[in-house]
Amino acid sequence: MPPAVVIQEHFKEHCSQYTHPERPERIDAVRAGLARGGITDEMIIANCSAAITSLERIHDPAYIRKTLDEIDGKWGNLDGDTFFSPGTRAAALDAAGGTTALARMVQRGEADWGFAAVRPPGHHATARRACGFCIFNNIALAAADLLAETDAKRVAIFDWDVHHGNGTQDIFYDRPDVLYVSIHQWPHFPGSGLVGETGRGSGTGTTINLPFPAGATDADYRAAMTDVVIPAMERFRPDHILVSAGYDAHREDFLGGMLLSSRMFGEMAARLKQLADGICKGRMTLALEGGYHLEALADSVCETIRGLFDPRIPECPPYPPGAGVRRILDAVRREISLPGNGFPE
Ligand SMILES: [Zn+2]
Repeated sequence: MPPAVVIQEHFKEHCSQYTHPERPERIDAVRAGLARGGITDEMIIANCSAAITSLERIHDPAYIRKTLDEIDGKWGNLDGDTFFSPGTRAAALDAAGGTTALARMVQRGEADWGFAAVRPPGHHATARRACGFCIFNNIALAAADLLAETDAKRVAIFDWDVHHGNGTQDIFYDRPDVLYVSIHQWPHFPGSGLVGETGRGSGTGTTINLPFPAGATDADYRAAMTDVVIPAMERFRPDHILVSAGYDAHREDFLGGMLLSSRMFGEMAARLKQLADGICKGRMTLALEGGYHLEALADSVCETIRGLFDPRIPECPPYPPGAGVRRILDAVRREISLPGNGFPE
């Protein structure tokens, strides 16, 4: 079964009047990376726009209406960072709808895995607010849609973007059926994502944050995958793994201070795909978030796709994480091994 991919030329019509890192050329870079990784034209699925009613699964109806009115055919900003242009309305609806349609296809066994190369990104958008270049929360909508419209009972979201996905965390903070796990730089925008933020009410224990210091390396992320991300997902036993695939933790990226190589994104993708093959029939869907250095973005997307096609984990010399990261991993492990944390037995 081949994978399926969402990428639209008109995602480039979402643009700022001014110089902005979240720029249309990112789509060309991702397209090049997808092709180099082995994605062919036949794997790209058709346009799929989100219905307003489906956006209401995660967004406040008043926010949806007000935003679509405000951005329709105009240039402007929803907040200090989040611009819109005459092409934004269609791009935002197709980014949300495309990610959702892709996840449904994968869940139904119509594609082996999915990659949604979308703009605008989504993980900072909350139920009621645009934030950090994000208007509608594409990955959160896909998760909510899977739970409402397919046989999926539990969905896990792993967010490897360098920024904390405050919107995704917020939307699912009290939900026991969505596990949100994020590795991000801290302190950094948007400021949330501390170890103690673990969920609320019946969702207690289903939010896991790994706030790493600037300068974290492949070895640090490898330790995080081994010690926290994979075991937490194994314990949660999701029916689908979603990934907020931002590439701004790359060492070349100018919006982040992390030191990841392009290969590390392939390694994380491979590890998650292996896990998905073991626990949820390989069901895994990724959606683009950040990543602003065009060559690094293309290379990292290429490595991600190669890791998904051939999820053998590369041989890596054992190399311990830095002391700061070790302390965070130990603190997180203490948090998630607490009894009554929302994980099924
Ligand atoms: Zn980011």
